[in-house]
Amino acid sequence: MTFRTRFAPSPTGPLHLGHAYSAILAHDMARAAGGDFLLRIEDIDRTRARPEWEELIYEDLRWLGLGWDGPVMRQSQRLDSYCETLDALWARDLLYPCTCNRRDIAEAASAPQEGAPMLGPDGIVYPGTCRRKPRPPGQTAPRPSGALRLDMGQAALAKGVYTPRIGTKGIASFEETGTGEHIRHGRIEFTPDEVSHEIGDVVIARRDMGTSYHLAVVLDDAAQGITDVVRGADLFEATRIHVILQRLLGLPTPRYHHHRLIRDQNGKRLAKRDDARAIRKYREEGHSPEDIRRMVGLPQA
Ligand code: GLU
Repeated sequence: MTFRTRFAPSPTGPLHLGHAYSAILAHDMARAAGGDFLLRIEDIDRTRARPEWEELIYEDLRWLGLGWDGPVMRQSQRLDSYCETLDALWARDLLYPCTCNRRDIAEAASAPQEGAPMLGPDGIVYPGTCRRKPRPPGQTAPRPSGALRLDMGQAALAKGVYTPRIGTKGIASFEETGTGEHIRHGRIEFTPDEVSHEIGDVVIARRDMGTSYHLAVVLDDAAQGITDVVRGADLFEATRIHVILQRLLGLPTPRYHHHRLIRDQNGKRLAKRDDARAIRKYREEGHSPEDIRRMVGLPQA
């Protein structure tokens, strides 16, 4: 199978050195393997995505010398596909509506019987308050009444999600080719109990978006035929959610390569609004793409 990867920025601010590292690494891995490097604009957050940031992404990538293969995928044009999938999951009783806000969740999670609140990839692990309420009838997912959560307990019972293994309630896994802090390398296995405890019922459709990062990324990676996902280590823990969704939806699981994060001089991860390290700024100051490669510790093209 040809190596095929993607760079998937959100047009909610300027690309900075952290994005440049991710894009160059993915691009170079694809070129070294004789494979494809695709581009996807993750613009489902309509309140924050801006056309001018999208334009700047194209400019910055061209300037960096990172040509992409095939048409650009834009998530804002794929909402029908996300909706159809939500309906299919709803019809299988795998989703439930949730009306809790952050405060409700924090309060319920810190109730004495819950023990110390657990932090998962999306914040406090949801204590399941709305899971216990009666679900509205109907074959299609209710919207836009609130968020929809994935019932991880139900997902564990669905055929093909976990592979039986003696002494466990089943195992799911993915292959990780990255190395570094917070990344485990090799075949990463996990059980339904770990998922319930460490991740919980994640939001799969936000009220304001009609989808979520998790659902969109899984459907889009499959639609783009991605064999190798190259992205930051901050998404390593969320990969288990993506694998469960892939199994539920009968989609292939790509290989994953989570890479180190670029940090500022205080060791803090670069944020979107970190204009001081925006690629555009380096461009305007007369730096070259080779300088950027040097700054993030990557070999020259
Ligand atoms: N859109 C995400 C970001 O900008 C990337 C997600 C991914 O690569 O899976 O952080």
